[in-house]
Amino acid sequence: MRRPIVVGNWKMNMLVSEAGDWIESLLANSPFPETVEVVVAPPFTALAVVRERAEGSRAVELAGQNMGPEPEGARTGEISAAMLKDAGCRYVILGHSERRQYFAETNALINRKIKIARDHGLKVIFCVGESQEEREGDRTRRVIERQLSEGLAGLDTDGLVVAYEPVWAIGTGRNASPEQAQDVHRFIRGQLKQDFGTDPAKNTRILYGGSVKPENSGPLMTQPDIDGFLVGGASLKSASFYDIICSVK
Ligand code: PEP
Repeated sequence: MRRPIVVGNWKMNMLVSEAGDWIESLLANSPFPETVEVVVAPPFTALAVVRERAEGSRAVELAGQNMGPEPEGARTGEISAAMLKDAGCRYVILGHSERRQYFAETNALINRKIKIARDHGLKVIFCVGESQEEREGDRTRRVIERQLSEGLAGLDTDGLVVAYEPVWAIGTGRNASPEQAQDVHRFIRGQLKQDFGTDPAKNTRILYGGSVKPENSGPLMTQPDIDGFLVGGASLKSASFYDIICSVK
């Protein structure tokens, strides 16, 4: 049985005071669904305030939005896996399309980061997805197969969450239909089965991300291989994030 999971990715948004207000208003919702795992990925500067205000509540886990590919040392501006753990993170998001696009992250680099995260006990939310051009050129499966095989080379699926995020749906207001998403999620699960075996494929959670909102999350969640969401824009308002969590339970 895969526990559904909803992850909020705030990207480069939210000052410390806003983050504090957000977590307080999210946790003020009652009842807070316990069947859903809820994770939030604030900017690094807001991890401490979210951790502090969520203290004592087991309702929300923290994630880093990114992490450096070295364990420590002379890498000015980077954040290490140990630092994320120390700041209270249980998860880290790796391979996000914005990292691939704006920071030239390759599958090989992402693979190195995943290994370091795992060595430090962080669970990984590993993002894959095709661009508009790749979808139109009928290359979706080929692209995702390569992202999975190169990104996960030499690894197993322990603590792994895969997020399918079609690049054309991220921040565009244009989400994949439930059928389009299910088609790719089924393919990803098939790839996991081929590479890691039946049980790892059955037990790995696969999230959909790309313009998820309270209005479209319910229908997407009816699909058998969709186990939750990675939410960008709609996670910035705690009320809409809460509505998405409720649609998943
Ligand atoms: C994301 O950045 O991971 C994302 C899915 O963004 P949005 O929900 O805004 O499309």
